[in-house]
Amino acid sequence: MEEVQTKPREYFIVYPMVLIMTYWHIGAMYGLYLLCFNSVKWATLLLNFLLYVATCWGIGAGTHRLFCHRAYKANYPLQVLLMLFHTFGCQSTVINWARDHRLHHKYTDTDADPYNSKRGFFYSHIGWLLVKKHPELIEKGKTIDLSDLYENPVLSFQKKYYVALSLLLAFILPSLIPVIFWQEALINSYHLSLARIVIGSHFVFSINSVAHIFGNKPYDKDISPTTNVTLSVLTFGEGYHNYHHVFPFDYRTSEFGNNYLNFSTKFIDFCAWIGWAYDLKHVSDDIIEKRAKKTGDGSDLWGRVQTKTKG
Ligand SMILES: [Zn+2]
Ligand SMILES: [Zn+2]
Repeated sequence: MEEVQTKPREYFIVYPMVLIMTYWHIGAMYGLYLLCFNSVKWATLLLNFLLYVATCWGIGAGTHRLFCHRAYKANYPLQVLLMLFHTFGCQSTVINWARDHRLHHKYTDTDADPYNSKRGFFYSHIGWLLVKKHPELIEKGKTIDLSDLYENPVLSFQKKYYVALSLLLAFILPSLIPVIFWQEALINSYHLSLARIVIGSHFVFSINSVAHIFGNKPYDKDISPTTNVTLSVLTFGEGYHNYHHVFPFDYRTSEFGNNYLNFSTKFIDFCAWIGWAYDLKHVSDDIIEKRAKKTGDGSDLWGRVQTKTKG
């Protein structure tokens, strides 16, 4: 595919973001140091692990699959829960996240793609957050339909109170709960929260960088997104990125819906079972198989074979 570049790619650094990110990373590394050498209580570690699980569901099952791609529908209690889970991760508002991601799908690997992988690994991973947006991205950003997101009262509420909400849910409560309930040192709980947020963010960033560079392309060999099983484990099922770019409306974001690596799919299935999620969209095995044969790179992943032999 020929690369279309309408305007020069200039790098105007956004210094406040560079400062915030530098502080976050130093704080996160200090958190890991404390974890190893400052006798962090196991309950604090467990709390942060559970918050990480919730963040994966909030961003994967919520922001990505529900709010951005509308791959299924959810009642208000589930929407509120997923919005709160998303906020634990401190990755901007659901509306901003979904806007960037819709642009990413519509204009993949062009200058209107916020995390354009044609600009290299670092840019698509985290660099895009540290510089001003490309003019093409600003222009195309105005044309993308976000009415469903702005009309959603849960998401509007989050956007309106985002600063207070994210400070409370991502930092203040995870820092104070261990201090109040099991006498953890504040220095431990605070820096461990930072480590959780930074590590979780890097896993999500890796979908835009690693999963657009390394891995197989079983469904479309002519696009940059790949399948990366390691990332799928770490992000609860978001690493089947080649499949996802081919069938973005599939609520499983992967062809193997009952796979144990895809915890976000399990979560959505559970929510459907209790009646909180409904109208789950997915692609039939037959269509998946045909598409793989037609445009795939021939890599026969175990998941697809497993699905076939099972059926
Ligand atoms: Zn992508
Ligand atoms: Zn997507």
